[in-house]
Amino acid sequence: MTTLAPSTPEAEQVAGVPAVRLSGIRRVYGDVVAVAGIDLDIGAGEFFTLLGPSGSGKTTTLRVIAGFERPDAGRVELQGVDVTRVAPAQRAVNTVFQDYALFPHMTVAQNVEYGLRVKGLSRRDRRARAEAMLEKVRLPGLGDRKPVQLSGGQRQRVALARAIVNGPPVLLLDEPLGALDLKLRQEMQIFLKALQRDLGITFVYVTHDQEEALTMSDRLAVFNEGRIEQVGSSAEVYERPLTEFVAGFVGVSNVLERDGRSITIRPEKILMSDESAGAGEPGTVQEVVYLGMVTRYMVDLDAGGRLVVVRQNLETSSQEALSEHGKRVRLSWRPEHTYEIKEGM
Ligand code: ADP
Ligand code: MG
Repeated sequence: MTTLAPSTPEAEQVAGVPAVRLSGIRRVYGDVVAVAGIDLDIGAGEFFTLLGPSGSGKTTTLRVIAGFERPDAGRVELQGVDVTRVAPAQRAVNTVFQDYALFPHMTVAQNVEYGLRVKGLSRRDRRARAEAMLEKVRLPGLGDRKPVQLSGGQRQRVALARAIVNGPPVLLLDEPLGALDLKLRQEMQIFLKALQRDLGITFVYVTHDQEEALTMSDRLAVFNEGRIEQVGSSAEVYERPLTEFVAGFVGVSNVLERDGRSITIRPEKILMSDESAGAGEPGTVQEVVYLGMVTRYMVDLDAGGRLVVVRQNLETSSQEALSEHGKRVRLSWRPEHTYEIKEGM
């Protein structure tokens, strides 16, 4: 029922032109190479995530897109236009930070309207747009409150409303759920994904949480030490990690050296049977971790290497699961569930 007129992002999106294009981006602080030469295309309307451990260059990359950081080398394009030397306020992007950064002395409505006041919209238009945005983030009627009168989750949604009120074609989000507890974070993940679909704009989302990234993203880029190790859909990155780092960071690292090759198999794709089964690689269960819905087994294989196996506790009690400790077993898997990875990256 609400619209993002006057300038809808769809109208600004040129078919086939990426919403964001980074070419050879490099940013150095003293002798720290924060971003070490990144090439990346993010499509219009994508929910795209920059995933990686702390210090891997995600925030720096996002700040380069926003224009808060000038890259030492490389080019930033938004909708096909080179904006490398354009000031942040002149770029068609908005940013949501983890710490919300709301103005404490202003009401919720005034906070949301802020971007429109800068644009010179009339008071009445501003009010209407702000209320429409508050409805979009499911906070109707809270416009007169002050930020301190809201919960953390509500404040984060006000920050969102403020960031989308101008109808930016690209929204940048830097660990926006990092300050929320787990339950609220999971609710907000679903909400954010739905909001992005509803708005039809591009989200560039930063997180160090692999589960969050897999849940929300259309595609993601896995960062490691200022470089991108892999770009792909959640399923591609999870099921076909290209490097040992990606295999370990996105999910559980299950890497085996066999016949001079490194292969990886996801824990839930491994069948664990009794030693007497006769087929599969023999090994010994070294560790059992009962996790409620599933149990995780660490198995040392006779031929070398250790694999993690995850089994659903369909009819298994915790006692039964834990009694597997020390047992001789056989592990098997389907060849199509193994992937060869590159070494030493
Ligand atoms: P991430 O967001 O993935 O945690 P950052 O982009 O914040 O990573 O940081 C990448 C690297 O650059 C880190 O080693 C960090 O310490 C360094 N860095 C980031 N910003 C600055 C800065 N303003 N001054 C000095 N070093 C910085
Ligand atoms: Mg960061």
